[in-house]
Amino acid sequence: MSTPKAAAPLRAAAKTTPAAVRKVAAARTVKTARAVLGEVSDELRRTQLAGLQWTVRHAYEGSTFWQARLDKAKVAPESIRSLDDLQRLPVTSASDLAEGYPLPLVAVPVEDIVRVHSTSGTTGRRKILGYTRQDLADWTEYFARCLRMAEVGRGDRVHIAAGFGLWTAGAGFQAACEAVGAMAIPVGPGNMDLQCQFLTDLRPTVVCGTASGVLLLAEEVGRRNLREQLAVRTVIQGGERCSDAMRRRIRELLGAGHVHDLAGLTELYGPGTGIECRAHAGIHYWADAYILELLDPNTLRPVRDGEIGEMVVTTLRKEAVPLIRYRTRDLTRLVPGACACGSTFPRHDRLVGRDDDMFMFRAVSIYPGQLEAILSGVEGVSSEYDVTLERKFGKDTMTVRVERSPAGDPRTDEKTEAEIEHGIKSRILVSAEVSVVDFGTLPRSRDTARRVFDKR
Ligand SMILES: [Zn+2]
Repeated sequence: MSTPKAAAPLRAAAKTTPAAVRKVAAARTVKTARAVLGEVSDELRRTQLAGLQWTVRHAYEGSTFWQARLDKAKVAPESIRSLDDLQRLPVTSASDLAEGYPLPLVAVPVEDIVRVHSTSGTTGRRKILGYTRQDLADWTEYFARCLRMAEVGRGDRVHIAAGFGLWTAGAGFQAACEAVGAMAIPVGPGNMDLQCQFLTDLRPTVVCGTASGVLLLAEEVGRRNLREQLAVRTVIQGGERCSDAMRRRIRELLGAGHVHDLAGLTELYGPGTGIECRAHAGIHYWADAYILELLDPNTLRPVRDGEIGEMVVTTLRKEAVPLIRYRTRDLTRLVPGACACGSTFPRHDRLVGRDDDMFMFRAVSIYPGQLEAILSGVEGVSSEYDVTLERKFGKDTMTVRVERSPAGDPRTDEKTEAEIEHGIKSRILVSAEVSVVDFGTLPRSRDTARRVFDKR
């Protein structure tokens, strides 16, 4: 598909400014519903190569960190000639962000940074990421694309239960709502009285937040019996893995027709770099914003088609903090084939988990997502559970507590426990002790839920 005519302006763009790349990239962004067939289309590949060339040069020239890294890997910016050259680039990780604290990996004059956002620092040191004006404009456009894909636009009222301030989610949702012409209701997380009041008085059509935060709100709506007064048709949630059971419960309690998973992480602008479409067949990601590789976390080699790997991202036009092969720790697989929704952007599956979430139990590596898949198939339990790992009499034990669903019958607990124990034994190949507890007894979180407690 590559013609000299199409390639020429891109070669030129590679040597010039981000503005030129942006212009080319915009011109090359998918215009029609041409089938991609599970891959990044030729058109997107050309955009990716131009963006990769620009990013490597920009990082090299703008940052001593990147210059040292690229020199060490013996990669000169001008030697990037095809997407295969990606393999020669060094891999980076969260520890590289810690090194440059408080403003790591910056490749522009600090005066060009117009805003910072930060992560919670739950798994290590807080990460602070800088944004230029152009970065914020790009992020808003990507995020707006997500809302359009979820069919959110003018006339919609969007209840934003995500965190504001240093967090990326609140600010991102608000800017994107305004960009698509929807009404942003920046209510934030917590304060259930206020949230319920806005839900019934302003009657938002869309609710967004972390999956845990939205579940908390949905359960409060259930407790107060407000569902009939709501007008919610769509839920958009991100920031953490969410089981089928949790999605079902959120949909039922809020009366929503669609639940969409939103992709993103603070290092990569924030949420809004991909979203589950209306066909609910994976998450379309914006391959004109970043290159996604799925690598084996141990060997750092690409996994085979359809296998689970760690998401490693390379940005294509991020100015303040460009990322080159940045390890996100998130695990997923690519989804092959063309999507029923007609979008030509490629897809990855919902997240299986994070590398950091994995725990070892009796020499078996287990992801919470595996447990969630088992619990989602069991009648009479809610989406909420936790796992405690202990060492008793020289032996590791695993105890899983799961809540009975609100309408569940305590007389069937024993049968349910046996069913889950059997499911864990047959699918994860370990023995666990399962106990069903009353609905509402496990702690809820408005941010992201912690479910595994290792006391060994
Ligand atoms: Zn789709």
